[in-house]
Amino acid sequence: MKYKRILLKLSGEALSGTKGYGIDPKVLLQYSEEIKKVIQAGTQVAIVIGGGNIFRGIEAQQAGIDRVQGDYMGMLATVINAMALQGALEKVGLYTRVMSGIRMEQVCEPFIRRRAVRHLEKGRVVIFGAGIGNPYFTTDSTASLRAIEIEADVVLKGTRVDGVYSADPEKDKTATRYSTISFDDVYKMGLNVMDMTAFTLCKENKLPIIVFDMNKSNNLYKLVQGEQVGTLISM
Ligand code: UDP
Repeated sequence: MKYKRILLKLSGEALSGTKGYGIDPKVLLQYSEEIKKVIQAGTQVAIVIGGGNIFRGIEAQQAGIDRVQGDYMGMLATVINAMALQGALEKVGLYTRVMSGIRMEQVCEPFIRRRAVRHLEKGRVVIFGAGIGNPYFTTDSTASLRAIEIEADVVLKGTRVDGVYSADPEKDKTATRYSTISFDDVYKMGLNVMDMTAFTLCKENKLPIIVFDMNKSNNLYKLVQGEQVGTLISM
């Protein structure tokens, strides 16, 4: 295995599958099976899950809800997703813990770095819910921060596109995909990989990012083994 400890970022939107809203149990099961393969191969897996399928602070603001209030609602949405994923992972026989950036003892553990690392060492999948626990951040920033804290080897951004393109491939037919690209070139070309806070955190800490298609079976397993899948962003 090329990567011993990974931080997998999944968007909330991906969980809604073709429904466009909420949680599709088929997607949960599919993701759980993919995660099981890498756990069985001996890789330690931490996950940050978004909340966009339920609630986003920025959209709330556009609808007249206070931004900070909306952001906390978004963070709680990520906990709902984290719990749904936890249930699905347990169904396929994995051991899991949800750790929250906002204390909610009845539901899950608080995020404590040393404890998270211990869970990972024991082979448990650790899902970080509630973002970093502060408004004006995203779950992409949470992914970068938690990955650095737990000393993950890489941030894997699982999306529905198979990497970083020169333009939006859904709009521009001439767009080409990069197999590798440097942090500096992403800045220079203004490509959209993650929000700037998240991206800069990775760059400053020399933490590579791989953007890949999580919906394609075996992709996660292949890239953890070191196969070229998606786009690798590194120094
Ligand atoms: N959020 C936040 N602080 C965090 C993480 C998330 O305020 O540390 C809020 C923010 O409103 C965000 C929402 O939670 O819009 C859901 O997360 P995100 O939009 O990153 O989810 P994704 O797009 O990955 O589904």
